[in-house]
Amino acid sequence: MLESGAIAPESAMSRPNAPARRATMRKLRPCLFACLCLGLVCAAAPAAAQWLSRDAEAMGTTVRIALWHTDAAAGERLVDAALAELRRVGREFHPWDEGSQLARLNADAARGWQPVSAELLALLQRAHHYSELSDGAFDITFASVGRLHDYRSGVAPDEGERERARDLIDYRQIEIDADHRRVRYTREGVVADLGGIAKGHAVARAAALLRKAGVTHAEVTAGGDTHFLGDHRGRPWSVGVQHPRRRGESLALLPLIDEAISTSGDYERYFVADGVRYHHIIDPAQGRSAADLRSASVIGPDALSTDALSTSVFVLGAADGLALIETLPGYDALLVDGAGRLHYSSGLARR
Ligand code: AMP
Ligand code: MG
Repeated sequence: MLESGAIAPESAMSRPNAPARRATMRKLRPCLFACLCLGLVCAAAPAAAQWLSRDAEAMGTTVRIALWHTDAAAGERLVDAALAELRRVGREFHPWDEGSQLARLNADAARGWQPVSAELLALLQRAHHYSELSDGAFDITFASVGRLHDYRSGVAPDEGERERARDLIDYRQIEIDADHRRVRYTREGVVADLGGIAKGHAVARAAALLRKAGVTHAEVTAGGDTHFLGDHRGRPWSVGVQHPRRRGESLALLPLIDEAISTSGDYERYFVADGVRYHHIIDPAQGRSAADLRSASVIGPDALSTDALSTSVFVLGAADGLALIETLPGYDALLVDGAGRLHYSSGLARR
């Protein structure tokens, strides 16, 4: 007797006799074979791989994330995560915005040691490194002068104000105690602005996040700083270097694979008054906008270093800037001087 609700064992159920079973199997065999083949094909074929991209506003500039992924939903989640990372860095290291770590440091560090996050400590150390490397051309305390300008409404300080602010520029006034993860400014009035390195840091972080998630082809751009992961699926990425005087026009196309490029220019944030171009890259020695170059593009292995170096080279000018790049293996530069002439590093000429 079968219990109610139980499933009958095969032996207890009505079974076709053996010849009938063989006939049924013969009919079914082609179908089974077809199903098996289809299953194998489905398992072997990749899901529809595709480029996913997003343009957005973040860190006060235009950003772009593009990546190749086999799963659209997972790829979109990675685009979201990369964008969120750019925005986080923008928030944390804004020099004046309430709630930013750097703004708190700027407000308090002249009064004594302030604890900082490991990330801010590392960024300040990297900034210090590029200040030493560029003989002071890169200096995040340029901000005492920089903040007296409003490039949108054409405001610049008078000469007295400029001179007093210039006197406050010196990266050595930022003391870093790495052992205790703390920082102090040795003089009242010193302010730091990581604008010359933070976008590159953000791009490097977002690119690292994508790489860790298994992405092998991607672009992360924030303003003038870009990192490319891998190639553009079988060919190099092609980057147009912006013509510094003709918006939307490229001066040169550079093929890049698994590299970063940063461009600093005098055409991004500027105004002209009485024939003088006031722009956002300040020569610390002069306390005024660096005047030798119109643009400096630096290629290298990561966006933080290319960002810091493009700003450094812009301030150093054509001769000293190229001389610095020639000392750094793995880096190249393309510069446009005040007369519109191009200058290349020797490695770029070989490329
Ligand atoms: P970039 O476009 O990367 O060259 O960055 C320009 C930004 O760097 C400016 O908007 C400032 O925030 C910052 N900056 C300007 N002058 C200097 C300097 N001499 N050293 C370091 N950062 C600077
Ligand atoms: Mg820079």
